Amino acid sequence: MLRANYPLEARGLRKSYAGKVVVDGVDLALAPGECYGLLGPNGAGKTTTLRLCLGLTAPDAGEIRLLGADVITEPRRARARVGVVPQADNLDPDFTVEENLLVYGRYFGIAAREMRARIPMLLEFAGLSARSQARINTLSGGMKRRLTLARALVNDPDLIFLDEPTTGLDPQARHLIWGRLKQLLAERKTIFLTTHFMDEAERLCDRLSVLDHGRIVATGAPRELIAGHIEPQVVEVYGEGVFEWAEQHARALAERCERSGETVFCYTRDASRLVHDLEGRRELRYLHRHANLEDVFLKLTGRELRD
Ligand code: ADP
Repeated sequence: MLRANYPLEARGLRKSYAGKVVVDGVDLALAPGECYGLLGPNGAGKTTTLRLCLGLTAPDAGEIRLLGADVITEPRRARARVGVVPQADNLDPDFTVEENLLVYGRYFGIAAREMRARIPMLLEFAGLSARSQARINTLSGGMKRRLTLARALVNDPDLIFLDEPTTGLDPQARHLIWGRLKQLLAERKTIFLTTHFMDEAERLCDRLSVLDHGRIVATGAPRELIAGHIEPQVVEVYGEGVFEWAEQHARALAERCERSGETVFCYTRDASRLVHDLEGRRELRYLHRHANLEDVFLKLTGRELRD
């Protein structure tokens, strides 16, 4: 039995396309008011998992309960109090900012009068109060994202799905979106997001899962994952002769060394001897830092490129 008090719970999700398994037995559960993230390389199955949870794609197997309804048999009822921010902005370019919100409200059967009363608040949330009559093609990428987020709130959802909410945005625009998402969490909304930005996941998510080849390979709070999977200190080293140095010296001074491109990553519980060794080598440059979520991600999913 799936738990009724959880905004979202899914068990045993499977999906194949043309004989290729894309989602391979995924279980997940979101507690009320939490921000849960799904991390994974390109093609890991994040978007497909999100679409399965929303009832937009039919699973080959599994069960999904979304806000008290069975997604497979009652997708519309399940989605009535859900907001969605898709990966690509799909705002209507023929309408103004305000009209986009009005039209979207109609999908949820919200009366125009009620929508008009809500629009000032939604525009303020999006930081677009001064642009209500603007055409979509006059907005920046960050403004479009904020409008798409405000649009996802027209039905006052309890649970908001965001598929890569800040991909393609500059740092200022990303910080603005993060601020808005934190505001929604403070209002006790539940958030489910996919991302491949580790800093985004580390900042926003209470809990996250790493998805690879359609399977969840780890789940936990960001700090738990870092403590559980990676040595606490990292020294990144590059420069002339770095690979020879790694073979001859670093292997004895660090628990684990990995090569990626021109850099050697040394993972260790105590980097003092490693740093002391490096201080005497002018040809090598190094960065000594704490382990982070990206280290976990790369350890779990590998360093090779994915398309
Ligand atoms: P991610 O969001 O992690 O990048 P996706 O869920 O978008 O991954 O895709 C996972 C895999 O499933 C990819 O190989 C993709 O090409 C394939 N895929 C996704 N949707 C479809 C579809 N509608 N038809 C065929 N293949 C698909």
